[in-house]
Amino acid sequence: MRTLITNGIIVGAEGSTAADVLIEDETIAAIGSDLESTGLTADQSIDAAGRYLIPGGIDVHTHMELPFGGTFAKDTFETGTRAAAFGGTTTVVDFAVQSRGKSLREGLDAWHAKAEGNAVADYGFHMIMSDVNDDTLAEMDQLVAEGIPDFKLFTAYPGVFYSDDGAIFRAMQRTAKNGGLIMMHAENGMAIDVVAADQVAAGHTDPYYHGVARYPIFEGEATNRVIRLAEAAGVPVYIVHLSARDALEAVRAARDRGSMTFAETCPQYLFLSLDDMGNGFEGAKFVCSPPLRTADHQDELWRGLVKDDLQLVSTDHCPFDFHGQKELGKGDFRKIPNGLPGVEDRVDLLHDGGVVGGRISKERWVEIISTAPAKLFGMYPQKGAIAVGSDADIVVYDPSAKRTISAATHHMDVDYSCYEGRTVQGRSDIVLSRGAVIVRDGEFTGRRGYGRFIKRSIADHARLA
Ligand SMILES: [Zn+2]
Repeated sequence: MRTLITNGIIVGAEGSTAADVLIEDETIAAIGSDLESTGLTADQSIDAAGRYLIPGGIDVHTHMELPFGGTFAKDTFETGTRAAAFGGTTTVVDFAVQSRGKSLREGLDAWHAKAEGNAVADYGFHMIMSDVNDDTLAEMDQLVAEGIPDFKLFTAYPGVFYSDDGAIFRAMQRTAKNGGLIMMHAENGMAIDVVAADQVAAGHTDPYYHGVARYPIFEGEATNRVIRLAEAAGVPVYIVHLSARDALEAVRAARDRGSMTFAETCPQYLFLSLDDMGNGFEGAKFVCSPPLRTADHQDELWRGLVKDDLQLVSTDHCPFDFHGQKELGKGDFRKIPNGLPGVEDRVDLLHDGGVVGGRISKERWVEIISTAPAKLFGMYPQKGAIAVGSDADIVVYDPSAKRTISAATHHMDVDYSCYEGRTVQGRSDIVLSRGAVIVRDGEFTGRRGYGRFIKRSIADHARLA
């Protein structure tokens, strides 16, 4: 099967160029100007006049079917990867979960079972470690060998995912030997629980106080602490969902002194704020951790993206219905399931707010949504690039089209949108996953089970720093 895409502008992290792309089966076979004149034939052609050709988006932070607070994130690998595809994202890396007292293997097997035969586009896994002990440390080496080279630990959620400094440091020492990467949810969960309890005792039970209780300084403190621990262990560290100026300052200082520190932020921290959490229980729609911050943090995060102190944007997609799920926290914000839907809207929000908004170039946009995630998470150049030999994960992107985001039209399996009514400029018209058209003009043309597990390599973080 040969597909020829003509008349498009290839936008890559390194630059943009007008060129045709020839796909043979699942990979990109040729790139050049006017490929048809060289006499080649194709089974199908796509006219991309007026469109960008970008490498498929890569979202390295999703939680399909995550158990949390007595319920489960609603999107399955089928609905979640399909929604991602509609939004121009062709690869997700989801977090398999080790439950307390169980092995990493049991958690990983459970996640393979959820995804295999269901995902419509490619996926990989990171591993959440809830227990650090001799057995799980040994298991880490095996997971690295199986293409799951990242391990997420938490300084938040005491009693659930929380690890103390000793456990975190032991895991870091292990990755110094096996080449893996430690990802950190960095908020001081112990201190947060004290403030949250004080708020509830004072009668402040609305969702808004979830945002109030989780001080930015608690994120800054924990971020600095885990970076310092990683420096002591001599390993790279990756800060997930960085939301606050205080945390960015810690990352920037670390990178300035040559530390192998990396960080992501998420659309919700760039486009939403603590104000969205007001309005009584409606604010539950916006409860995630870290929480939305006051709007003055947003400019700082954009600056972080421009200066590469933040390397990429992922979503932390973790959707719970407002009705029936978020409502579990009525009367006590601590019981609201934490998480927001977002996997479908990331590429367009970043195009609209970043490129159209004049904050970043279209090349930096592609880097943030695809190329940097591929490099940092061991998928480059198989993913994250339009290059000969790469997987033909290509989005034919219309940079002028406008659409209005709404729960009535989105494809995520959740009953609300955080961006309801917001109009964005930029839309994925045709989405290819390994050469197959899986979305065309708003219609799903792929199939359940097409998505494949991506066995990832160890990235060269010393060089990427
Ligand atoms: Zn997360």
